[in-house]
Amino acid sequence: MLSHGKQGSVDEQDQGAVARTLRRDGGGRAPPGSEWKHWHPGRTTQRFAAGREVGLTETVDKPSSAGQNLAMPELPEVEALRSFLDQRLLGQTIARTELVAFSALKTYQLPLSALHGLEVDQVTRRGKFIGLGAGGLWLAFHLARAGWLTWKDTVPAAPARPGRGPLTLRVVLDDNSGFDLTEAGTQRKLALYVVNDLAEVPGIASLGPDPMADSFDAAAFATILQTAGRSQLKGVLRDQRVIAGIGNAYSDEILHVAKLSPFKPANGLNDDEFERLFTALKDELTDAVARSVGLAAKQLKGEKKVGLRVHARTGEPCDVCGTTIAEVSFADSSLQYCPGCQTGGKPLADRRLSRLLK
Ligand SMILES: [Zn+2]
Repeated sequence: MLSHGKQGSVDEQDQGAVARTLRRDGGGRAPPGSEWKHWHPGRTTQRFAAGREVGLTETVDKPSSAGQNLAMPELPEVEALRSFLDQRLLGQTIARTELVAFSALKTYQLPLSALHGLEVDQVTRRGKFIGLGAGGLWLAFHLARAGWLTWKDTVPAAPARPGRGPLTLRVVLDDNSGFDLTEAGTQRKLALYVVNDLAEVPGIASLGPDPMADSFDAAAFATILQTAGRSQLKGVLRDQRVIAGIGNAYSDEILHVAKLSPFKPANGLNDDEFERLFTALKDELTDAVARSVGLAAKQLKGEKKVGLRVHARTGEPCDVCGTTIAEVSFADSSLQYCPGCQTGGKPLADRRLSRLLK
């Protein structure tokens, strides 16, 4: 959790400790619809090189509730971005940076200009963070819920100016290509860091293990669930300090595939349920990464939407059992689930969570 001083909060609802998940959930979020209202198809005209786009957020045409929100990039989408940047940036020299939204920069010790003249030698992902390594320094960023990266073959000659637009930071390479980090909407959650070591970024230092790592095996996952105690699975899966990279969408998907209630206590699974959950977690993320990496934005959006079976599908029939997909609303977000697959046909009452949140 990024909590000290001006560090502010990135990905707030995902950064809380398990013990705090319930109390925190619903706090510090964007107003209902604030992301997708500002996400519009026009933004997809931003392109990567050779007509390639990488879309990290989703446009939901007709959101029916706060829950119909696919906006926040999660592990698979951020991994797709890392892969793209790896191809574009390695060996390139950072010529200059133009910071437009000053509040996005969360570190003070090193100025952005410290990166100027340095060659990018690493592009890495930590949870939902991207780190660009150059000459021993790192530029790290977290796109939060409404961030976007736009590649430019040729960066405009005129310096970017502070204004009301979405541009947060422009990075220009010495061949005059580069990228913009932008943020839609009015909330300013996109966060930038210039550090000597990625561990200096609080949100990275506190990350739990990456579920795509080989070391994240059944034994490791079992330990995580036992440690989480009676915390509900939904909150545990998306707590960045417990497992890095899973957010609201993929936690819904994983629980659906595993046929488990989002409110089931983490340490209350029998062997079969545990096996289903572990397999679902690995398979869902692996499949989503495979679909995301290398795809253009329009394809990516389509693939992600097709790939989601319950998240943001309230009111639609479940692909597995035909039951109408339901949702539980929080103050300003929601989860989706299939009562037929996950809760023995019983609906989960919103007030149950409201009460627990107090
Ligand atoms: Zn179902």
